[in-house]
Amino acid sequence: MGIVAAVMPAPRAPVELREFPEPSLAPGSALLRTLYSEVCGTDVHVWHGRLAGVPFPIIPGHVSVGVADKIRGDIRAVDGRRIVEGDTLVFFDVHRTCGRCRACTVTRTPTRCEARRVYGITDSAAEGLFGGWAQAIYLEPGVSIAVLPAGVPPETYISGGCGLITAVHIIDRAAITLGDTVLVQGVGAVGLSAIALARLAGAAQVIAFGAPADRLALAREMGADRVVDITATNDEERREVVRQETGGYGVDVAIEAAGSARAVEEAMTLIRDGGRYVIAGHYTDAGPSSINVHQHINRKHLEIRGCWGSEVGHFVRALRLLERHHASIPWHAIGARSYGLGDLNQALADAEAMRIPKALVQPRSG
Ligand SMILES: [Zn+2]
Ligand SMILES: [Zn+2]
Repeated sequence: MGIVAAVMPAPRAPVELREFPEPSLAPGSALLRTLYSEVCGTDVHVWHGRLAGVPFPIIPGHVSVGVADKIRGDIRAVDGRRIVEGDTLVFFDVHRTCGRCRACTVTRTPTRCEARRVYGITDSAAEGLFGGWAQAIYLEPGVSIAVLPAGVPPETYISGGCGLITAVHIIDRAAITLGDTVLVQGVGAVGLSAIALARLAGAAQVIAFGAPADRLALAREMGADRVVDITATNDEERREVVRQETGGYGVDVAIEAAGSARAVEEAMTLIRDGGRYVIAGHYTDAGPSSINVHQHINRKHLEIRGCWGSEVGHFVRALRLLERHHASIPWHAIGARSYGLGDLNQALADAEAMRIPKALVQPRSG
């Protein structure tokens, strides 16, 4: 009996079930019995062929959680703990970052290392079980692994998922000061976690722009003080909200998690002089934004920071945050619905239509 996986054969082609042989395990590797994986915005982009360098066919699902089924040799978690069969494990989806190239060593931007690969996105199904939309995942030697903290339900971890890990990186880049007013653009999985973490980082006030209404309600539960429906307001009305909330000065920090070229233009007019803007939602090319550099950057003395991918440290710190705050911050509510491997075309359609904040994948259900 083989291992069943859901394969994305090519852009726009329906996801199909395929059976894979159980892999032979190299020393230092493990086979994970998948409990949960996820369908995130990136998977929808990949499915539409909007992300360059995806080696189709792939098994999608880059962030996942599972149980160590088989282990070869001595495997250590990132905290040094020895992993044993039966442990509930999570792993950092980015692997093979080389540690030797210019990006890794000189400019210290390892998320731009050209050797890096990502489970479920840049690993081909031709190489085996490198994605979470499968009954089992092959953890090759060198993958960064952690034991899921005791008390954190696997459903909660995966509901936070890649959005939470990305948000940890965003908050690093945002360098929020105690008492700041922070605007978060976008209330998808990344924006929702960014709201909660901005709050933990000391923001006195968090404003969220987005849609639809049910996600804005969730944004409030995640810690937003004021939410604004972008489908029910125009630019001037939103500017007025920010004026009211900041005494006319503008927000100290804005975080872009919307993936919209228009959102970038809008934020430039809403950030105070000398403020900061972190752009994280343009993982694919959403086209050019039109900016008046004199008004919005130079004279405003604005600081703009990009945020690409994440590092092991963000993953590890996301686990610490979940351990401490999972009972009070409703990450579990982001993962609204679970789908079996046979239902993932529907899950992609639901994710694309924004019918749910995030679709969970439960490969062994049904
Ligand atoms: Zn993702
Ligand atoms: Zn490198």
